[in-house]
Formats: sequence, structure tokens, C-alpha cells
Amino acid sequence: MLALLEHIVVAAVFLMLLGVYLKAGTRELFRVVVIATKHIPGVSELVASTLKSEAASFIKSTKLASSNGLVSKAATVALPKTGIPKEDLLRQMKEMKEKETDHMDGKVFAYAYTLTDDHFELQKDVYEMFSEKTGHCPEHDDLVKTFQRSFLHENALNPMVYPSLRRMETEVVSMTSAMLHGGASCAGFLTSGGTESLLMAVKTYRDRAQKLAPWISQPEIVCPITHHPALDKAAHYFGLKVVHVPVTSHLVADVDAMEKAVTANTVLISCSAPQFCHGVVDPVLEVSNMAARLGLPCHVDACFGGFMLPWVEKLGYDVPVWDFRCPGVTSISADVHKYGYSVKGASVITCRSEEYRKYQIYSYGSWPGGLYGSPSMAGTRPGGNIAAAWAAMKSLGEEGYMARAKTLMDITDKLKEGIAGIEELKIMGHPHMTCVAVGSADPSVSILAVADLMEKKGWTMERQQNPDCVHCSVLPHHQVSCDQLVQDFRDSAQEAKKNPQLSKQGTAGIYGMMAAIPDTVIIEDFIKEFFSEVYKLQ
Ligand SMILES: *Cc1c(COP(=O)(O)O)cnc(C)c1O
Repeated sequence: MLALLEHIVVAAVFLMLLGVYLKAGTRELFRVVVIATKHIPGVSELVASTLKSEAASFIKSTKLASSNGLVSKAATVALPKTGIPKEDLLRQMKEMKEKETDHMDGKVFAYAYTLTDDHFELQKDVYEMFSEKTGHCPEHDDLVKTFQRSFLHENALNPMVYPSLRRMETEVVSMTSAMLHGGASCAGFLTSGGTESLLMAVKTYRDRAQKLAPWISQPEIVCPITHHPALDKAAHYFGLKVVHVPVTSHLVADVDAMEKAVTANTVLISCSAPQFCHGVVDPVLEVSNMAARLGLPCHVDACFGGFMLPWVEKLGYDVPVWDFRCPGVTSISADVHKYGYSVKGASVITCRSEEYRKYQIYSYGSWPGGLYGSPSMAGTRPGGNIAAAWAAMKSLGEEGYMARAKTLMDITDKLKEGIAGIEELKIMGHPHMTCVAVGSADPSVSILAVADLMEKKGWTMERQQNPDCVHCSVLPHHQVSCDQLVQDFRDSAQEAKKNPQLSKQGTAGIYGMMAAIPDTVIIEDFIKEFFSEVYKLQ
């Protein structure tokens, strides 16, 4: 009974202060309360239930809440007793798609790299490989007809069973390595995406250190804070520690600070080309030279830029040297399913030599089912993705990639110029390719309030923190929306300036509160609650 009372009192105090904070911004008070209350018995359960209801109300404040018809009507769904006829299913799916944001409107800044020409018809056809029955795009019929079987069901787990997939995979890796100025000694594998490539990089260097420096029991990775979190996820899965080093005022890796962060436990240095947040390429040559001097390997995460920077450089833009031309770079990850314009599920991890790649391979010799080996996280590896990645690269070729890079860089230049003409806003750092992050240049304008106003105009905004800004990847579908984007940024910035209270309301208010919480464990618990709440039928 006493415990229950205690719970209620603490809950009331906690919620009251949360309320006070939200209205008045009493940040310090909130900080003290959060730290103090965590030490009272029973409080963690209370914090959990508060976070749960906060997560639920956060979801209600987002677009998802208004996605009428995309939420299941029942709390559980069982298999239909009899299969639903194909026509009905297609109709249901069509209805769902119609209710969803269409990225081809050009109002989304991540996720989809769809080319607006017939390139994706080829991708679809190759993925399906249905022979002439597919008939989506008559020009490709000849190509499609040459394939007798469907790659949809083919499995690259065993390279001896499907030699065509083995050939396509090795060719994709080789074409990528050459594009990144790697020599013939480069060796790599195709994975399902950037995250799997980084998982494999971390596994490779962990296993290499276990072999070459077995005395290291707590392996560490040093990287800039702007590195993609797939590296943190990999380190979490594989038991390594990530040492995050603050970036310079230009938002690039601080080489001296990174060197200071290296310890006797460091097994890998990693940096990005470019980092996703602001589209800025790290000083890879300096970072990798430092790594080489200390006898450490250096991975470059070019998941975002691997298939864009080579062409941006050839177009004459200023791009710092970052690929295998840097002698200290030992491996690179590059996503074919981003600016390589392949369907989702394709990324390359390539190493300077087989000496590194061999640590990526998993092997097990005692299984009654036979000798088992696997080069990546996945066991079964879908054939369609490999075939589609190969076809994307072979069908576009250098000229195809160059032409598309030019179109996207022209849009980027126009966007940069447009933002530069808006007094209240600024571009963060000096982005090198088809990406800008937009922040506030006026202390009385909250960029998060600008983001909320942009959402009201139909844009899907990517909010970023430390410092606050919004991320805009420039994608093929922005050809139709670039001018509108600049206009809406201008209008929203002026509206936010006139209405400073907007920074305390809506999503901006919630983000502001989250940023003020001094304890990242609470934020991380909130994220988990968010995922448990959002992946529910109703
Ligand atoms: C997208 C991205 C990743 C992760 O790739 P996924 O394909 O989303 O798994 C890693 N690093 C960078 C820089 C990225 O842009």
C-alpha cells in the first residue's frame, strides 16, 4: 500500500514537472528532478509508464495518426481460412498505396532513390525475370527473354549452385572497387544494405584484431560523432566499444582529437564520405594517414556517397580525395541501393586486399548437415537483389551515372542558392554532394518550428539534433519540387519568426523537451517505447 502511494506521489510529481517544463521551459528543474527521482525505489517503472504514454501521444501528433485506412481495424489478424483471390488482394493493396505519401511528389528527403525514367522498369523486370510474360517495358523484353528462370527464388548461399549469381556478385564488387580507385587486389562481397556492410566491417576488424592482437579484450572503434549509427549497432551486436569524437565547427572529423582518442584497445578507425547528416566528406586522407601511422586499419563509410562522389568529382566539383587513392584506407562500404539506383537490398563492402576480407567469412566445420560457410549476416541470400544490382550498374554505365549526377547536382546548387537567399536560414557546413542540412541563422527562429510548418505544407521533414537542423537528400523526384521547396522554406521561416511560440508547440515542443533531457538512457528507453507502440496493428 505504501509502495503504491509512493508510486502515485512520484508519478504526480514527475508528470506535473513535465507539464511545467513543457510550458515554461524550466530546464534545470527538470534535469534535477530526472536525476533525483531515478534513485527513488519504483521510479524506473514509473518513468517507463510515463515514457509509454508520451510515446503514444507523440505518435498521435505525427502523420501516422491521420493515415486513415492504413491502420488495421482489429487487434489481431489470423491467416484467412481460404486464400483471398488475386484481384481482391491487388485492389486492397492499391487502396493502401493510394492513401500513402507518394515520394514521386518530391516532398520526401530520404528513403527512395527512384529514377524518374524507365530505369526502374528494367530493375523490376530483372528482379522478376519472368520471361516475356512480365511485359512491363517492351524495350527490355529481349533482355528479359534471355533469362529462362526467375532469380526471385534463387539463393546465393551456395555459390556452386547458381554460378550466374556468383559471377554477377563478383562483377558488382569489381566494378565498385574500380570506381573507387581500388586495384585488382581489392576483394569484397555484396550485402543486403549499408547496415549489413558496416556489421561486416566491424566483424572483420574485430576478428582480425583477435588474430593479430589477441591481448585486446575490450576492442574499441574511434569515429566522429556524425558517423552513421549502423556502426554503433554493429559494435553493440559484436561487443565492441565506439569512441565518438566531436567534429570541428565545419562538421568534419577532427583528426587530432581522433588521434587522442586512440588507445591500446583501438582496433579500427572509421570516417565517412560523406556523413549522412550534413553531406560533408570527412578529411579521409588525413584520418587514414593517421591510422596507418598508428598501425590501424581505416574503414570509410561511403554508403551514401560511394555511387555519387566519383561522378561529382568528375563533374569538376571540389571533392577531397577519399577512396582507395588514400593509402591508409583498408575498406569501403558503398550502397548500390542508394545512388547506384538498384532496388532495395544491395550494398558493397570492399577491402583493399583479401588479407582483410577473409576475416569477414564465417565458417563452421562440425555440422551434421555438412560444411558450412557464409560471407555475410544473411544465410539465404536473395538472387533478385544481386541480379538487379548488376543490371543497374551495367545498364547505366559511367555515362548514365554522370548524367544523373549532373541533374541532381544542378538541383542541389539551385537549392543551396535558394537557401542562401533566405535571411533566417543557413546551410550547415560545406556539403560536397547531393545533400544539404538546413539550420536557423536567426536566434529567434527555431528550425524545428520551421519543420512543423513545412509538414503542414505537405513535406516530410527529417529533423536532426546537436545542432538542430533538417536533412535534405536531393533525389531524382526533387526535379519537380525544388522551386516549391525554396519558396516554402522562405514562407515557413518568416512565419516561425512571427510566431516564436511555435517552437514550444507540436513536434518542435516534443523535440525540444527530448533535447533537454539530460539522460540519454531515458531518450533511448523512449525510442524503444516508440517502436513497441508504433508496431501494433491498431
Ligand atoms: C544509409 C546509410 C547507412 C545504412 O545503410 P542502410 O542501407 O540504411 O542499412 C550507413 N551509412 C551511411 C552514410 C548511410 O547513408
